[in-house]
Amino acid sequence: MEAVNKYTILAVDDAKDSLMLIEFDLKEAGYQVITAESGDDALSILQNTSVSLILLDMYMPGISGLTALQKIKSQSVLENIPVIMLSASDDEQQIVAALELGADDYVTKPYIPNVLLARIRNSLRLMEKTLQLEALARTDFLTKVNNRRSFQDLVSKTISQTKRNENIISMAMFDLDFFKQVNDTHGHEAGDKALIDFAQILKETFRDYDIIGRVGGEEFAVCMPNTDINEAYNACERCRKALAAHLVSIEYEGRTSQLSLSVSIGVTSAQGLLIDYNELMREADHGLYKAKENGRNQTVIEGDCGMNDSNIETQEQTQGEEKYPGINYEIGVNNVLGDESLFADILVMFHQDHGEDHNNIQQAIDENDQQKIKHLVHTIKGVSCSIGAMDLFDLCKALDVAVSENNSDHYQVLFSPLKAELIKVTAGIELRLADKL
Ligand code: GH3
Ligand code: MG
Ligand code: MG
Repeated sequence: MEAVNKYTILAVDDAKDSLMLIEFDLKEAGYQVITAESGDDALSILQNTSVSLILLDMYMPGISGLTALQKIKSQSVLENIPVIMLSASDDEQQIVAALELGADDYVTKPYIPNVLLARIRNSLRLMEKTLQLEALARTDFLTKVNNRRSFQDLVSKTISQTKRNENIISMAMFDLDFFKQVNDTHGHEAGDKALIDFAQILKETFRDYDIIGRVGGEEFAVCMPNTDINEAYNACERCRKALAAHLVSIEYEGRTSQLSLSVSIGVTSAQGLLIDYNELMREADHGLYKAKENGRNQTVIEGDCGMNDSNIETQEQTQGEEKYPGINYEIGVNNVLGDESLFADILVMFHQDHGEDHNNIQQAIDENDQQKIKHLVHTIKGVSCSIGAMDLFDLCKALDVAVSENNSDHYQVLFSPLKAELIKVTAGIELRLADKL
């Protein structure tokens, strides 16, 4: 076995000479070794030291090896550590008792070093295989995130802690938009690749202690412990925008091409003693349903979310966004120091200056006029940021980058969502400010 020094073995024996001998043989073989001269010592070492395997003498003053074994195997954090019993005689009954209590193997003393080392190797190999199998059973084979069962297990444990500490918890549900079309148009393998890419974006967007799961075919969920609805909403939006700006590279019928995708998200939060797994999932799912109904590619907050002052801000923002579709009203108005009438004038100007730009950009792409595409996209990018049209800003940024890198294969695919967003924003302004146009 390579790199045995990654394993730490705890050797427990009351006979000092015997312990020294074991320590010598194990260190010779390359293992890290910790020694204990009694069962009690061993148990206290195990409380704060990580150990790969235990060699446990059967007969010791104080608590016996069998009692120590029983205590080890009754603690969930320790029960998976392999234990090899060391017995001075081959006392059948004791050996049987040890094996029944969960010992993994036994070696009789005086031991033959090579036999002891071979048995240690076997036990460690078996432990690693068991760990791998357990990990496999918890993991979705395609995307390598938690499968549905493991997600539920982990979230349920987190919910218990959250309730104990009276903390807040958030749950988001993600469903890729029009995913059936991806399979139908580009093939199932392309669909699989898109799922893998999306899972990667989830892993990059959320924190290590957030729990990510694939809970359906193209449905994912993320549980965010100690996270209020504001933070959760912002994280979901970061993820949604990252996906919108991402291109999935796919091979179909011998050709490589790029594919863009969007995702709809429902998010909710809860606090207090009544937090319940099914209820959180249901609320997040309701939000997701509304996101689909409202036109997809968006995040919808659902439920009262353990509402407090800091949460109301997000609600206002969401309502603000509805006032002008695709525009975060708060951001836009703040950019003109809260002057709402000036902001309306600016939106009118935006409509006049850029209302036709989707046609102009398309024409520039058709003519492959780099300069013109760059100029148009760059201008809208700047203005969209000022008026709080943040999705439009992100989409412009992606195309802007592609133009700077001369990535002309990507122009059309990056332009399609940009065009849709630009039309959404200008149509919204038209609807609200018709009298000024
Ligand atoms: P909507 O925007 O309403 O969610 O539309 P949709 O097409 O995404 O929804 P629908 O539920 O009709 O289709 C989901 C599709 O996801 C159908 C199924 O073939 C596909 N899918 C589910 N699991 C996998 C998978 O593991 N690999 C691939 N390639 N496709 C999958
Ligand atoms: Mg679905
Ligand atoms: Mg879907």
